[in-house]
Amino acid sequence: AARLRIGIAGYGNLGRGVVAAVDRCADMELVGIFTRRDPAQVTPPRADVPVLPWDQLLEHREDIDVLVLCGGSKEDLPEHGPALAAHFTTVDSFDTHAKIPAYYGAVDDAARAGGHTAIISVGWDPGMFSLNRLLGEALLPDGETYTFWGKGLSQGHSDAVRRVAGVAGGVQYTVPSEEAIDAVRSGRRPELTTRQKHRRECYVVLEEGADAAAVERAIVTMPDYFADYDTTVSFISAEELARDHAAMPHGGFVIRSGSTGAGSSQVVEYRLELGSNPEFTASVLVAYARAAARLHAAGQVGAKTVFDVPPGLLSPKPADQLRAELL
Ligand code: NDP
Repeated sequence: AARLRIGIAGYGNLGRGVVAAVDRCADMELVGIFTRRDPAQVTPPRADVPVLPWDQLLEHREDIDVLVLCGGSKEDLPEHGPALAAHFTTVDSFDTHAKIPAYYGAVDDAARAGGHTAIISVGWDPGMFSLNRLLGEALLPDGETYTFWGKGLSQGHSDAVRRVAGVAGGVQYTVPSEEAIDAVRSGRRPELTTRQKHRRECYVVLEEGADAAAVERAIVTMPDYFADYDTTVSFISAEELARDHAAMPHGGFVIRSGSTGAGSSQVVEYRLELGSNPEFTASVLVAYARAAARLHAAGQVGAKTVFDVPPGLLSPKPADQLRAELL
């Protein structure tokens, strides 16, 4: 069978992860990477993968089966999602929670008008965690769902730390509470406050002459970001920041704790422990790219989410083989 031809729109952390993920899929090949920057300024992953200017995207409509959108959720995808779904079958990782319904509507209109298929908000959260929350609730209607994140680097909270006056650099890790997770796993269905579920660890490089105590106070009392959590601030050197905090680990847990029958306790857990958040997110995007191509081939146009995709379509294996491997 012909290999699935993948294009990448936007080349940041996620874009690099998509290259690595496609390389591990025997049924796929990379057509090229499209960037809004000057392609000459962007280092290609390999000699055989061209980096091309964004305005050449439409010229490649016929050689790309699925375009993986790797722009940021805040500024890029609200524009790229609908504009590109009009011309390509797409997958993206749009994760601005409150705006997903409006984004779905805009992408759906564009995809239907162009006769394309677009799977939006793919990744781990939203994405695999959403799917596992849905399964837990559907299978155990009498129950409670718990999501814990971390230990992981949070981009938004790291940005907030770096905006504090006197901070030269820094990162923030979200850390789930072991006691809270144990209480949930016990099946007791505890009621947990924000503070009881997660704490926040900041590693900060000070600007020369900055007041450490003032910086720490500004961070731990910051509303919305840190004030509702137990937050620790550790001061480190620029060398330590570069050496020890460059990886982007993340992960978490979705746990459904419910009861059936006369009160039998049923606890279901899905756990991720990710050495690289963008590389895992990209791996999920690439599996859903396979499904997007198959949905499109079956005439299912418009916007979809992970809830609309049968899991068999994610697998490179044919349906009869999957049936033989059911047990
Ligand atoms: P990046 O900031 O690394 O990349 C976003 C875009 O910025 C790129 O597509 C690229 O576009 C541009 N860019 C990247 N590097 C540079 C640079 N050096 N100079 C100028 N521009 C650059 O974001 P990520 O790849 O880490 O994440 C993308 C989105 O994925 C996030 O916004 C997040 O919302 C989402 N995400 C979703 C997850 C989920 O579970 N659903 C999990 C993780 C992330 P161009 O090449 O055109 O310049």
